[in-house]
Amino acid sequence: ALELRTSKEKLSAVLKEKQEKMMASGSSKVMLAFREKLPAYKTKAEFLKAVAINQVVVVSGETGCGKTTQLPQFILEEEIACLRAADCNIICTQPRRISAISVSARIAAERGESIGETVGYQIRLEAKRSAQTRLLFCTTGVLLRQLVQDPNLTGVSHLLVDEIHERGMNEDFLLIILRDLLPRRRDLRLVLMSATINADMFSKYFGNAPTIHIPGFTFPVEEFFLEDVLEKTHYPIVSEFERRQSEQNKDPLTALFEEVDINSHYKKYSKSTRQSLEAWSTTKLDLGLVEAGLEYICRHEIDGAILIFLTGWDDITKLLDKIKGNCLLGNSSKFRVLPLHGSMPTINQREIFERPPSNMRKIVLATNIAESSITIDDVVYVIDCGKAKETSYDALNKLACLLPSWISKASAHQRRGRAGRVQPGVCYRLYPKLVYDAMPQYQLPEILRTPLQELCLQIKSLQLGTVASFLAKALQPPDPLSVQNAIELLKTIGALDDVEELTPLGRHLCTLPVDPNIGKMLLIGSIFQCLDPALTIASALAHRDPFVLPINRKEEADAAKRSFAGDCCSDHIALLKAFESWKDAKRNGRDRAFCWENFLSPVTLQMMDDMRNQFLDLLTNIGFVDKTKSRKEYNHYSDDLEMVSAMLCAGLYPNVVQCKRRGKRTALYTKEVGKVDIHPASVNAVVHLFPLPYMVYSEKVKTTSIYIRDSTNISDYALLLFGGSLLPSKTGEGIEMLGGYLHFSSSKSVLDLIKKLRSELDKLLQR
Ligand code: ADP
Ligand code: MG
Repeated sequence: ALELRTSKEKLSAVLKEKQEKMMASGSSKVMLAFREKLPAYKTKAEFLKAVAINQVVVVSGETGCGKTTQLPQFILEEEIACLRAADCNIICTQPRRISAISVSARIAAERGESIGETVGYQIRLEAKRSAQTRLLFCTTGVLLRQLVQDPNLTGVSHLLVDEIHERGMNEDFLLIILRDLLPRRRDLRLVLMSATINADMFSKYFGNAPTIHIPGFTFPVEEFFLEDVLEKTHYPIVSEFERRQSEQNKDPLTALFEEVDINSHYKKYSKSTRQSLEAWSTTKLDLGLVEAGLEYICRHEIDGAILIFLTGWDDITKLLDKIKGNCLLGNSSKFRVLPLHGSMPTINQREIFERPPSNMRKIVLATNIAESSITIDDVVYVIDCGKAKETSYDALNKLACLLPSWISKASAHQRRGRAGRVQPGVCYRLYPKLVYDAMPQYQLPEILRTPLQELCLQIKSLQLGTVASFLAKALQPPDPLSVQNAIELLKTIGALDDVEELTPLGRHLCTLPVDPNIGKMLLIGSIFQCLDPALTIASALAHRDPFVLPINRKEEADAAKRSFAGDCCSDHIALLKAFESWKDAKRNGRDRAFCWENFLSPVTLQMMDDMRNQFLDLLTNIGFVDKTKSRKEYNHYSDDLEMVSAMLCAGLYPNVVQCKRRGKRTALYTKEVGKVDIHPASVNAVVHLFPLPYMVYSEKVKTTSIYIRDSTNISDYALLLFGGSLLPSKTGEGIEMLGGYLHFSSSKSVLDLIKKLRSELDKLLQR
């Protein structure tokens, strides 16, 4: 024991000496001067004292005040300086991968070390850390998985949970676990960091934990709403025919706007502006308007970086194209245009933060990731489209949707604040003041608007008891019906048994960080030797569809997509074939032209390719794929499209619709909502009569009507063999599925055979 103590003391001494040497170096003095200017620096002593005497501390402060980069660092420096480094193990969670990397790199730089020494990061399938690492940034998901192995977080001395104001599902989930853990780990220190002043709720949740507020300093930011932007830019909004067909339900804010008498409300504006405002209320996000605003700033406003908030990859890539074709903005010697998106694989970190040469203007096209988790200092102009992609969940109809929707006032405030970091700034809002006034104060927490099946699996794998009683302890508990739906689904796909315990299949699905249905598809693909199609389709379902929808050439794009599907009646097979053809084109060096001709997004295809490799690694880790074997062994049936359809059925069940002939057309019915339609973007939208009696689909969305997106026509055999559990039918002749919704009548011998085959299949999955 004595030896252990002395070796620990030695280690602590070594680290202290190293830190002191670093601090004394010239470059670190420059950094220190920068750090001392951050508002967080002034609360250093108060913060360290609070952490020393309280188990939980809540810290709030405006974005950019130095929470993420400074607070963990204060603890680290203090622990090293007090010769406690050997026993110190600080973890700071981030909701997104990209910020875990960027922040750890920043702190390492501030300390004059390379990343992976005292400061490191770990994200899914990627890490930079060493035995020396004392401060680790990881995604919340990584910490949750660590909790499976080690429910007490043994050895962790300090845990900082960042960005809790976002109310992400993982963070809300983690907070429940931590509240239960704290009494068992009296020595563990917990710091919660929030970008909004509204920290009281968190403090209450943790038994009135003390809160510290870091007063921020920002320059004033002038604010313009759409009406002013229109006056400045003279941009005429025309609601295109295309847009009127908008699939989206009219959201309440737009509806509100339509009721307003524009003329009386906007008297002081010109007639053309009032007309544009009126047209605006029926349009989706108008990228032409964004471009016009951008061009206006570049022509009329003095230097300074511009940050544009868009809703997602789609808008970002489309706007990038527009900028490229713009005669002013397309000049790459004058403008440095950079995309910033959470799922970018490896972004060029430095360029985003660097100041460009003096004759150049930086333009960043970002999603809401730039709202609070990444701070770009030199931003002077913000263009805010007012929307963000948000998932929502309709528990009654079991519908999930991911659609752009209006942000909250809190988000709008955040976005504006990004412009005033180094000097007074300007924020251009591309929506009227009226819409701003009607925005909700805060966004609904994610746990209340997402399907809960992945979360339920996690609760089970962490052995946290029954799902319902566990989730009842959340900051804002989800609707019991959503919980019940999730459990039911997990039982249906065979991940949970009757008493809500994980089956072996459920255990495998826990290790795959994707939706359980997609996970099951991957497992089936590897067992039934159609691995490559499973990887491809799963990557598109987990990420996004590679088909792009050009505004003016929709028909050509639809035709291109249909030609990939051939006569298969399957969107999934269309995307599979598109991906395979892209791979071929890439080998011949003509992938760019190929994408252009076929309306495919090269960025998405590349991302899918990366994801396929990640999935393959995961399948290897859990023993479903042996990488030493030839890839062929897993792909005997990859060209057999009936087999691929059957695999899709196994993965997508219970997303099944019945195709019933009604005259010259097929009508589609689901168990939950009755009649549904095929999404207009599907290759199946133009098919009148389907050859096979059933259809599986990836997603059901409710907009103007209820649509199924991405569907595949399948045979009854596929359903009988690969669909969910069978029940003997009430009449005794035949079998039933989907709780009796589907009925198959057949001779006893055929039924017995099917049952035998299915029990073999179950054995394979439940091994
Ligand atoms: P908060 O977490 O409170 O939003 P951060 O700690 O992330 O603030 O950032 C504090 C400041 O550090 C930022 O305003 C910015 O000036 C600087 N900073 C953060 N990350 C980087 C980086 N990767 N490169 C350069 N500067 C950075
Ligand atoms: Mg932060």
